[in-house]
Amino acid sequence: MIIKIKRDASLEAVQRVLDFIKQEGFDLKDVSSDRVKIFGVIGDTSKLEARDFYAFEAVAEVIRIQSPYKKASREFQSNDTLIDLGDGVVIGGDQHVLMIGPCSVENEAQMMQVGAFLQRHNLKILRGGAFKPRTSPYAFQGMGEEGLKLMRRVADRYGLKVISEVPSVSAIALFEKYVDIIQVGARNMQNFHLLKALGQSRKPIFLKRGLSATIEEWLMSAEYIMHGGNDQVILCERGIRTFETYTRNTLDISAVLAVRELSHLPVIVDPSHASGRYKMIDPLAQAALAVGAHGQMIEIHPEPEKALSDGAQSLTLERFERLLEHLKPLADVLGKRLT
Ligand code: PEP
Ligand code: MN
Repeated sequence: MIIKIKRDASLEAVQRVLDFIKQEGFDLKDVSSDRVKIFGVIGDTSKLEARDFYAFEAVAEVIRIQSPYKKASREFQSNDTLIDLGDGVVIGGDQHVLMIGPCSVENEAQMMQVGAFLQRHNLKILRGGAFKPRTSPYAFQGMGEEGLKLMRRVADRYGLKVISEVPSVSAIALFEKYVDIIQVGARNMQNFHLLKALGQSRKPIFLKRGLSATIEEWLMSAEYIMHGGNDQVILCERGIRTFETYTRNTLDISAVLAVRELSHLPVIVDPSHASGRYKMIDPLAQAALAVGAHGQMIEIHPEPEKALSDGAQSLTLERFERLLEHLKPLADVLGKRLT
């Protein structure tokens, strides 16, 4: 961290800044020239908040060199994190892992049909929401615990893993019982109490990017979970809110590249929530694979017109089969294995 001192700062005011930095346990290096007074703060500055220094009247500018996250950063760990779900499913390596299923778990027939479909295509991860974060309190809220139980039954019958969104701290124990990956929804990305509690869990955590979160804020949320003791974090780019209204969100495809440079954690793309339109899913999924995502989360439904949530962005099983056919040759070229 670099601290630039105001030209007209008094010696006492400068000393207050330097004393504070030393008290906090950091070393200082004076790198001033004749024209500007500058200090380098040496040590693990992830503990410092750059903005706080502006409380000192002598401080003109603070520039952060080291990222505020540590465990999530590529500097801390250079090799990619691999998340081994068992049965040969590994996220973060040469597999391109597809997490497929309806937005909401609705009933047994729907889930059995989807489960059998995934098995037929040799896909391994079943997604589905049992506690739905809906904008309206009048919209379908999900089947709750019954939904989780149903997903587990379907997954066990068809040899699948389960991912589902946890709504709150109090529900974590329930999720640990039924799911293989715990999803944190976009709206909960900065629910720090939830993130801390998930740091205590031994399940992998799927952290969706917040609706208006910067990449740094997203990685700071991953840091919360890792700081709590759980290193198994999977990032998910699911589109961000922009001024554009044609699509539900804007898929920030370059975020995949940014995150892969900044962090060692695996990153998944969700083209369904990013676009909100089923016609866009196939080409966006190809783009996500091409850009280097470690997998994707995609919503499908046997009858999207009758879906209780997100029908407009859900692919029919036939449309999803076509998408798979489009991904296969691309995966071959890239040396990735569709899982
Ligand atoms: C979901 O995956 O079902 C979901 C609600 O997504 P998001 O949190 O990205 O809106
Ligand atoms: Mn959805």
